[in-house]
Amino acid sequence: MPQSEATTLSSTVSSPPPTTSTAATTATDQAEADRGGWLRFSPAQPLFRARAAQRLAVLAYHGVTDPRSFGAQLDRLRRLATPVSVCDVEQAIAEGKPLPPRSVLITFDDADRSVLTHALPELTARGIPAAAFVISELIGTDRPFWWHEAAFLARHGGQARSLRSHVRPEQLLARLKALPDPDRRRSLHELRVSARRRPPGQDQLSPEDLRALQDGNVAIGNHTLGHPCLARCDDSTVHAEITGAHQALTRWLGEPPTAFAYPNGGYDPRADTLLRQLGYRLGFLSDHRLGPRLPVHPLRISRLQVDSTTSSRRFDTILSGLEPAVQRWRKGPTVAE
Ligand SMILES: [Zn+2]
Repeated sequence: MPQSEATTLSSTVSSPPPTTSTAATTATDQAEADRGGWLRFSPAQPLFRARAAQRLAVLAYHGVTDPRSFGAQLDRLRRLATPVSVCDVEQAIAEGKPLPPRSVLITFDDADRSVLTHALPELTARGIPAAAFVISELIGTDRPFWWHEAAFLARHGGQARSLRSHVRPEQLLARLKALPDPDRRRSLHELRVSARRRPPGQDQLSPEDLRALQDGNVAIGNHTLGHPCLARCDDSTVHAEITGAHQALTRWLGEPPTAFAYPNGGYDPRADTLLRQLGYRLGFLSDHRLGPRLPVHPLRISRLQVDSTTSSRRFDTILSGLEPAVQRWRKGPTVAE
């Protein structure tokens, strides 16, 4: 989801040198984690919570930076909800039988190493299933996510023709994502050759790690080869990004994946057609919404954006759908990408 990437990007690009005190940083982080937490006390919260009981909540995490807080969220889910797996959702759809009330599916996009090191032990300790959507061309490498790389390169003097006019650091990612995909790739190349420094490596998951996750009841799903914006890609690139990742995952896992998460959360009808042909049963958006307990469009399932540091008050209002509704009201109607 762009929001998380944008947050990471803006903090990566615009962070001043570490002159702020740890206490101040912690206070800022806590304020962000609790943003909108006051809604927990809104009279609308019980109404939304009652309505949410009849919906499916699919939580979209990225990495897990705070295992303790993540563990507390899982404990909360065990008390307040019914954790379900990708298989449970697939079975419900196949049988035309709605999932249990308050069903929650946990997912991770991009799957950095913290899914294995921080999330898996917490999930395993509580017997909670999940799904991780991986960027296949990064598996087994030490390459950073392209949006982190672009932010680093721009901060270290990197230039690109498409970014010639002044781009504020927090706008860089949006600008790159708006480009036709060949221009985005060319811009990344130009940033690489012009920047003063190379970005630090990022230790990615290996094929063995993917199998360890799968053995730990974390289903591995397709998130394309290189995480482009599919809407900015031509037909052959959409095909190559999805089938390339499908073949790699099938090779590593010994069976074809059946779940897909749209990179940047953006639905693409060409991807939908191809996913059906390849036998995918579930496709996930990043539209910050709850969905029906029996998904009507299995390849367009809504998800809610959360983070391991999200405060318990805010977590509750996201799960109830109140916080997403307020966000939509504030920003106006949003079209799911
Ligand atoms: Zn992603």
